[in-house]
Amino acid sequence: MSAVAKQKPLIALTPAVQERSGGGLNGCINKEYTDAVLAAGGLPMVLPLTDDEAALAALLAPADGLLLTGGGDVNPALFGGDPANPKLGSVSRLRDTMELFLTRRLLDEGRRPVLGICRGCQVMNVAAGGTLALDLPSEIGAAVNHSDPRHFELVHDVEIVPGTRLHALVGATAIRVNSAHHQAVKDLAPRLRVSARSTRDGVVEAVELDGSQFFLGAQWHPERLHDRHEPSAALFRALVAAAS
Ligand code: MN
Repeated sequence: MSAVAKQKPLIALTPAVQERSGGGLNGCINKEYTDAVLAAGGLPMVLPLTDDEAALAALLAPADGLLLTGGGDVNPALFGGDPANPKLGSVSRLRDTMELFLTRRLLDEGRRPVLGICRGCQVMNVAAGGTLALDLPSEIGAAVNHSDPRHFELVHDVEIVPGTRLHALVGATAIRVNSAHHQAVKDLAPRLRVSARSTRDGVVEAVELDGSQFFLGAQWHPERLHDRHEPSAALFRALVAAAS
């Protein structure tokens, strides 16, 4: 590795779980995540799909920051919810275990930055002691379609809370975002604060740690917008800056 490359912050990314039709699992990453980190000046490093805590701790050691990517539902058993709820989507014990371990480790350490996207935002809240709404249409209503198949388009409005870290880095109190989520933050974890809500229905669209550590979760998918949506690009730049 060249000296120039080593100066760039190393961002560890968690993989999504994909079940193969013939059996077995893939740990995979959407290219938009690694492209967004590269565009922001970071070096993306996708972690292997494992719940081996010693291996994860060793892999996390050289990382300068962590990006929790999107994916399926978080198992409600992890936050006192009902794992038998028929509205629950696909869950992965392996991925839940892996991401909660990594997130809690950096939360306890209190230094290196964490950016959570969609499911990652939800994982951050659960890791810090919060709960999730399992199914938005049945629990919140259908005034806004948060599960919009137009993944690369701005589909609903979000209000950003003035004075938050998100407000400082986006520089606006109202933006429009894409939306492809089934769950959302319900009871906020004690150390977190809400930094954005969906305008029409109040669904939590971003959370952050109330403190000096960059620990920020966005419910939308900024990686699908980063090349043409300044508020989304700003999230990746802020992660890389905090990792530098
Ligand atoms: Mn949404």
